[in-house]
Amino acid sequence: MVVAVTDHLRTACARVCAGLALALGQRCQLCAAVLTHAAPMRLCPDCLAQLTLPQAGYCPRCGISAHNMRLPMLCPTCHTAPPPWSALVMHGPYAGQLKELIHRHKFNQDHGVSRLLGDVLCTAWDAQNLPVPDLIVPVPLRTRRLLWRGFNQSLELGRCLARHVHCDLAPQGLHKVRDTKSQSSLRRAERLRNVRGAFAATRTMKGQCVVIVDDVMTTGATLTACATACRQAGAREVLVAVLARAQEHKPVSQYKQDRAEL
Ligand SMILES: [Zn+2]
Ligand SMILES: [Zn+2]
Repeated sequence: MVVAVTDHLRTACARVCAGLALALGQRCQLCAAVLTHAAPMRLCPDCLAQLTLPQAGYCPRCGISAHNMRLPMLCPTCHTAPPPWSALVMHGPYAGQLKELIHRHKFNQDHGVSRLLGDVLCTAWDAQNLPVPDLIVPVPLRTRRLLWRGFNQSLELGRCLARHVHCDLAPQGLHKVRDTKSQSSLRRAERLRNVRGAFAATRTMKGQCVVIVDDVMTTGATLTACATACRQAGAREVLVAVLARAQEHKPVSQYKQDRAEL
């Protein structure tokens, strides 16, 4: 009898919660399922599972996948020619649900997912034991691209992260000192040449711990050029925070050769 009453109460509570959630608009940001309780990132369990932060299987410095790694460990390239940042914050590979969300935000102008992607980046940040930075700077967009898109997705992410870690944001902390071609049409070696020396800091970063934010790291060429510019402005430490890393498949010798060109 007591068990039956408890079951009835539980069912009634669940219905009330679902009704309230419906009334208050508490729905999964991805599939619109009604959330019956407070959920991380306002996602239902199924959608949250698709955005789970991977704990291993990639290089913690450049984010390249290595399926034989059970623990986070440096790839051979980062062992011999490390990038000019001391730590990488990354949510996961540029694939699946994460890739779809980034596309929706960037190319379909779906600003509804902007907050979600910001939360995704902050979750990745919290997963690492990093120092509180002094400054966050987004990777700048080419002027033409900015005019066409109307917003810089890296700045949106940087704004979320700056609020989360309580540090300053410099929306124009980096700028392009010369125009560059669109990276997407170029091969890796061309990308490196295209952006080498193309960025400069607009302010001093002397003695500061600076985080450079971007949505996707493809080859790392742009982030390398931006990190170099921060170092030249006096940054004591440079960190990189991205949502996703596009995965490449090529011999390690090619990475070494490419990075040596910088
Ligand atoms: Zn969902
Ligand atoms: Zn690496």
